[in-house]
Amino acid sequence: PESITVQDLANRMAEKVSDLTKALFKMGSPASSIDTIDQDTAELLVTEFGHEIKRVSEGDVDIRHDEDVDDAEHLKPRAPVVTIMGHVDHGKTSLLDALRGANVVAGEAGGITQHIGAYQVKTPDGSIVTFLDTPGHEAFTEMRQRGANVTDIVILVVAADDGLKPQSIEAIKHAKAAGVPIIVAINKVDKEGANPQRVRERLLEHELVVEEMGGDVQNVEVSALKKTGLDKLLEAIAMQAEIMELKANPDRAAEGTVIEAKLDKGRGPVATILVRRGTLKVGDIFVCGAESGRVRALIDDQGKQIKSATPSMPVEVLGLGGVPMAGDTLTVVENEARAREVAAYRHGEALKKRTVQAPVSLEGMFEALA
Ligand code: GDP
Ligand code: MG
Repeated sequence: PESITVQDLANRMAEKVSDLTKALFKMGSPASSIDTIDQDTAELLVTEFGHEIKRVSEGDVDIRHDEDVDDAEHLKPRAPVVTIMGHVDHGKTSLLDALRGANVVAGEAGGITQHIGAYQVKTPDGSIVTFLDTPGHEAFTEMRQRGANVTDIVILVVAADDGLKPQSIEAIKHAKAAGVPIIVAINKVDKEGANPQRVRERLLEHELVVEEMGGDVQNVEVSALKKTGLDKLLEAIAMQAEIMELKANPDRAAEGTVIEAKLDKGRGPVATILVRRGTLKVGDIFVCGAESGRVRALIDDQGKQIKSATPSMPVEVLGLGGVPMAGDTLTVVENEARAREVAAYRHGEALKKRTVQAPVSLEGMFEALA
């Protein structure tokens, strides 16, 4: 929308609405709290209250790259990003481990797997799938609330001996709200009392109609314990991804999302970044949340140092000035001066958010005005 109500603007600025109406009166454009004002008037008002709107708006568009959509001709296929959700004890962790195990590169004794919060697996047809390692709908919704919609596909794990439970239903709701397709992994089919058919029937009540019943929801019977059905599950993901035609432009300055971050004793601040578009390279200067830095090293999910990371790849990034937060965006910028400027701005915003009850976000304001 190109207009905003005075009340909304006041909320976004964390100013009193009466102060805004007074200012508007003085400016010769009287308006009440429920009136809408145009973008120019809003900008004037914001400047009047001491917020530097011009620079912020320009900077912001620049920082977030929201406006610069990649041309279709530059898009190349990318791996789907998958989150595993489901009721407690239905086997999310076991399934993540089993799938990861299926990928251990032959010849690597013991298969030293690194925990970096996400990993990639090869499907039987040779395509790649990225799994986020933090199961559960809390991580999923938290990331979404922070504006980081990284998941392309949700795997709903349902134990065949236990059936749909409250958290299964929660997961269905979250995936649906996010518009993310669901594949159902019916787990523990090795167990006595396993009843996969009952699970399929119960799914109907939640508008998930499996293929066998004439719907388009894929379901795969698996056993994370006996490691059966894993290839089928990977195939189902590959098929779903193909339908979705997931693409990104790898040939541009990189942009990614923080999956997890920590302060490592020996290595300093370390963040696992899921590259969303572009190619992240060693030496790149970036802003990450309120931190800036230069990529000192990139480490993949196998613990190997790599030179660059392409879309949908999870990678550990070393060279951060501080520890960012999960859900933060990493953006590669042209030079250090720009990185510092953007980081300082974001830092200020973060501080404001902490001190003001109703969060002031000029970024949010511009979303409403744009
Ligand atoms: P989460 O809470 O969803 O992460 O579930 P876990 O992966 O921790 O599994 C809960 C329990 O179920 C553990 O004792 C697992 O060993 C067991 N389990 C997981 N998958 C299977 C399976 O396919 N078959 C059987 N029999 N047990 C399983
Ligand atoms: Mg678990």
